[in-house]
Amino acid sequence: MTTRVTLIRGDGIGPEVVNAAIRCVEATGAGVEWESMEAGAGAIPTHGAPLPDVTVQSIRTNRLCLKGPLATPVGGGYRSVNVALRQEFDLYANLRPAQSFAGLVTRYEGVDLVVVRENTQGEYSGIEHYIDPTKSAAEAISIITRFGCDRIIRFAFEHARAHGRKKVTLVHKANILKMTSGLFLQVGREIAEGYKDIAFTDIIVDNCAMQLVRDPTRFEVIVTTNLFGDILSDLAAGLVGGLGLVPGANIGEDVAIFEAVHGTAPDIAGKGIANPTAAILAGAMLLDRIGQKERGGRLELAVRRVIARGKELTPDLGGRGSTESFADQIIRELAS
Ligand code: NAD
Repeated sequence: MTTRVTLIRGDGIGPEVVNAAIRCVEATGAGVEWESMEAGAGAIPTHGAPLPDVTVQSIRTNRLCLKGPLATPVGGGYRSVNVALRQEFDLYANLRPAQSFAGLVTRYEGVDLVVVRENTQGEYSGIEHYIDPTKSAAEAISIITRFGCDRIIRFAFEHARAHGRKKVTLVHKANILKMTSGLFLQVGREIAEGYKDIAFTDIIVDNCAMQLVRDPTRFEVIVTTNLFGDILSDLAAGLVGGLGLVPGANIGEDVAIFEAVHGTAPDIAGKGIANPTAAILAGAMLLDRIGQKERGGRLELAVRRVIARGKELTPDLGGRGSTESFADQIIRELAS
């Protein structure tokens, strides 16, 4: 059985790491057919838009996408394509696991947490404007609904149950944002009543950042709103070795988009030294989703073995290898 998946290579290091991921996914023997589409800055010269209709249509049809990072202009310019995709397909859950890698020297061992981030609401709702003609003041509206809180918090508890996790920590700022973050916390407390088998705690976001840095092993599943989740998941990536390592899934009722947590890394783009781990592990999450769990598991194991061996890793991990040599080792590991 072959599953068709929309493939967006993306901008910056995107094509380098996504090509490595394709090779590794295919080396598992997975039945995947890639439908290559464009998005991001790279789509503008050919399609005149960063999110061409044909790309949206492909994702809508295939309901699955593996995506490289997309450049978003800072300040002005076009709206983030990532945010647009999440809203277009109502990809309300952003799952970002951060797990220690044997062989990598980091401050902590045994980190194994997942950030479940609400992906469509809050400060990223896209409602922002200047309030005077001279653009001397601006405001953004943060939308939080009971419906939005309910489904992401349930998603977190269900994820915890399905993966044998024992604890869900809800992260908020309800002491200051009494209505928006307050609603998130209130709904969390209500939903937790229905999951007596899973411990539930809540914590204010600034304290959570401090606790994560002091002892990340006390966290299992973190569920939080959009902006906090974006920041805390990068923090968690840093705890296990950096952005080059951590994958993410954007999940809705019908569509799922898999990607690395990192961006286009313009500082190293085109040099062939980007770490492909995050993109490859995003490929492993995709295999899991399409029912090819065993292949996804083997792929993750191969990545972990190569990292543990510590030969020819990319410079972000202290090695002298390249994106290609890293992927070659994973492919050899899969074949062994
Ligand atoms: P970034 O993740 O691109 O880079 C941050 C740092 O991490 C850089 O030093 C970079 O070299 C390093 N890094 C990232 N990925 C790496 C990898 N695979 N291997 C080795 N080193 C890696 O973040 P940024 O610089 O803040 O953002 C650059 C662009 O990416 C912006 O346009 C931003 O909007 C975009 N972005 C896109 C996504 C996405 O598409 N999902 C996510 C984050 C940022």
